[in-house]
Formats: sequence, C-alpha cells, structure tokens
Amino acid sequence: MKFISTRDTNNLNKFDSAFVIKKGIADDGGLFVPESFPVITADDIKALCAKNYVERAADILGLFLTDYTAEELKGAASAAYSKEAFEDGATVISKVGDNEILELWHGPTSAFKDMALQIMPRLLSTAIEKCGETRDALILVATSGDTGKAALEGYADVDRVRILVFYPSEGVSRIQKLQMQTQKGNNVKVAAIRGNFDDAQSGVKRIFTSADVAEKLDQKGLFFSSANSINWGRLAPQIVYYISAYCDLVNEGEINLGDELNITVPTGNFGNILAAYIAKKMGLPVGKLICASNKNNILTDFFTTGVYDKRRVFYATISPSMDILISSNLERLLYFATDAEVCAGFMKDLSENGIFTVNEDLRAKFEEDFAAYCCDESLTKETIKKYFDSYSYLCDPHTAVGIYAADKYKEETGDKRAMLIASTASPYKFSAAVLEALGESVPEDDFEALRKLSEKTGTVPPKNLSSLADAVVRFDKIIDVKEMAPEVEDFAAL
Ligand SMILES: *Cc1c(COP(=O)(O)O)cnc(C)c1O
Repeated sequence: MKFISTRDTNNLNKFDSAFVIKKGIADDGGLFVPESFPVITADDIKALCAKNYVERAADILGLFLTDYTAEELKGAASAAYSKEAFEDGATVISKVGDNEILELWHGPTSAFKDMALQIMPRLLSTAIEKCGETRDALILVATSGDTGKAALEGYADVDRVRILVFYPSEGVSRIQKLQMQTQKGNNVKVAAIRGNFDDAQSGVKRIFTSADVAEKLDQKGLFFSSANSINWGRLAPQIVYYISAYCDLVNEGEINLGDELNITVPTGNFGNILAAYIAKKMGLPVGKLICASNKNNILTDFFTTGVYDKRRVFYATISPSMDILISSNLERLLYFATDAEVCAGFMKDLSENGIFTVNEDLRAKFEEDFAAYCCDESLTKETIKKYFDSYSYLCDPHTAVGIYAADKYKEETGDKRAMLIASTASPYKFSAAVLEALGESVPEDDFEALRKLSEKTGTVPPKNLSSLADAVVRFDKIIDVKEMAPEVEDFAAL
C-alpha cells in the first residue's frame, strides 16, 4: 500500500507508510491518504470475530502498513493494548437502552486518544529504523489539556523518541495539570507557559518552522515530529476499533454477520468519524455515520448546506475537546470524494477566505453516508441527567453530545438498524460538568468534585485520576512564550 498527499495534483509522489508516519504532513501542506481502500469481506470479518483485540489490530493495520512485518505490528499492538494500560480491555461496549455505547476510554489517561496514542509512538519508533533515519525524533506538543497527557503517556520511554509538552499555565484544570506535571519517563519534559492555548500553539508552530532551531536539533542528532491527529499513524489505529466492535456485537448476538450498523461519533477534528467512514469503505457493513457536534456546529451546517464557513463565533463549551472551527481531517473526506485538484481548491478557499462551498452533487453524495446533528449546552446536560436517571448510565459531556445526536437521528428517521455510539472520555475527566448536569452543587476543588461524583452516583473513578492527588510532581516550571525555543534547545542538549 502506498500513500499520497490530498493536494498532490499530479499524483507524482507515492510513499510507504513508515515514511508517512515519520513525516506527519506532506510537503505540499496536504494530508497523507492510502491510494485505495483495502477490502474486507464477510469471511474476513468472520475470521476477525474469533480473534482478540491485539490480533485484530495487527491484522487490520497490516492492510495499510504493508511495509511493516506482521511481527512488528503484533509486537506494537500487544505492547500498546496490554493489561497494564487497559485493565478492562482495549474497548468496552455497554448496551444502554437500544444503543450500543463503545467506550474508548479505558486506557491510561481515560480519553479515547489513548487508543491511537498508545500504539502510534511504537509505530514511529519502528518507522525511524525502517527509514534508515540516523537521528531520533523530538515530538513537540501544544495542548489545551487532553492531548498532551495522552501523548506523554504514549511516548514515555519509547525508543528513539523524546517528547516535550507545553500547556497554558492557567488554561487547564487542576487534574489535567497534575496529570502532566507528574508524568513519568526518562524521555519526557513538560513546561507551563504564561499565556493561553493559542500562545502555546503559535509558539510551537514557530519553533517547528524555525530553520535555526532545526539546525541546532540536527547537530544533536534529532528531528522534529508531531503527534497530532493529521498523522496517518493516529488515524489507522482508530479504524481498528470500529471493525472490532462490529465483531464483538456479532459475537454477543446483538447483530448478525452482514447486518448494517449505524455509527455515531462526537466530532471535533473529524479524525474519529473519518476512521469509521474508512471502515465502511473497506467493506464493514455500516449504514449511516452520524456526525455529532456541540454548540460549535460548523460540521452540522456543512453537511446540511454544503457550506463550510469558519467565520463565526467560537464557543468554549463543557465538551472542550470538540471546540474546533477547523476540522483538519475533513480534508481527507473531501479528497476521497473528489480529487487532489478540487480538494486543494477547497483548502485554498478556506485559508484565504475562511469559507468553501461544495456543489449540490457532492453534498448529496455525502448525505448517502453521513447525517449530522448538533447539541447545545443545555441539551448536553439534559442528556447526561436523562441517561443517568433512566438507565443509571453515567456519561461525559462529549459522549452525551453523541447520544443526543443518535437518539435524534432515530427519532427523525425511524431507522431501526443497530446504533453504535463512540464514547470518548470517562465522565470523571469532566466531574464538575457532570455533577452540574445531575443538579448537584460543584465543589471548588477538582478532587472534591471527583469524590462527590463517585459518592452521588455509586460509580468508581479510574485509578489514574483518583491516584493523582498523591503523585509526585516532576515538572512545575512556568516560562514566558519567548523562552519556549531555549527550552526546546535545553531539552535537545540532554
Ligand atoms: C479529541 C476528542 C474528541 C474529538 O475527536 P476528533 O477525532 O477530533 O473528531 C471527542 N471527544 C473527546 C473526549 C476527545 O478527546
């Protein structure tokens, strides 16, 4: 399998997956995509049903990462989805009412990003070897909370990789701050900056593109790499859990092999739902993909009108990981449905004018695969309360957005096919918002809120969060934005 850029209008350059994972983004600014979708048949799915998650992951990744050996993929998958990292299993499906809720947050940081970030660092480390790269990778991350911790946990002590994370000192919750400050590992470093998330992000972008810093890094035998969701290495592992969930539902007798399954995904950067779309295009029996947005409903507008217009108010919501106005991975969908030239045109319109429009044919084509709904703040809270009161099922605000959209879709269409909903975070990651939704007063302190949520609901918080209060702080440095580059150089000199 070869990979090409979504903006390579001449289709001239084709790359192996190891190169693509090491590189992250194409030189023309496009995203890497597989040249074609590998096919899985009903027999393939049947065979996967008899396997465990690690085996399924190695098999499915092997369809895309054809330059990796089966041993390499099996090794990476078994290290990533181990019992230590995922005590309850890589994924858990809870049947709630008539919805199948696919909990993707049983990993070490209690958010779905662990599903990709536990394995991607291992794929990168192997890619460095495969590409004959003599330097080691330095991953730089600017985070508003969740991604930073998931990346740290994934890259900690992985060979030939180091990671440095910057977060806004006052822009993350106390629990998120402690998650990062207490990170273990000999190849990690964390620094808070005086400023907001945008300051951190533009600082990182400046450093990334600085020839001066790159040269200093090169002298130390290092090169920059990134951990964000435009990297194919983060997308590929997400395809696995949709196919795996289908197998689990067959095994549990919830569906018959061959039945179509609808899938709802609470969406931000469009990475998670795109993985489900790719699974469908590979041949997994999937009906509709329901794209669920919070109050930042740019994707709902896009799928209903064909206009993507980012010139609008940005809302900070209780589902912050979906507060996004540029859903980067939408570029891949646009490419799959058109070609590099048309796709590059949309992206040019977006960057120059903040808007692009797809024609009615293309919009109608998307409607065959997608439906889109949005859920405002009060509906999000109502959904959390409704599901707890009716089913004793506690969900986080991101998942609640998905549940609302799934139920709304069923109500409007009467579609009776089984519904899988991606659940993207543990409710305990957002204890304060969940308590408020349940009508409880919210303690000032994060850990008090966590304890109260546990007490009021009779549920148990994930150990990785409750044990944080006693963890040892390793990184408590706060720096100015202009000290970020020297911080990177210091880290490189170690
Ligand atoms: C990142 C994230 C999302 C959004 O996923 P995308 O792949 O960016 O669409 C949803 N929920 C949670 C909890 C997340 O961390």
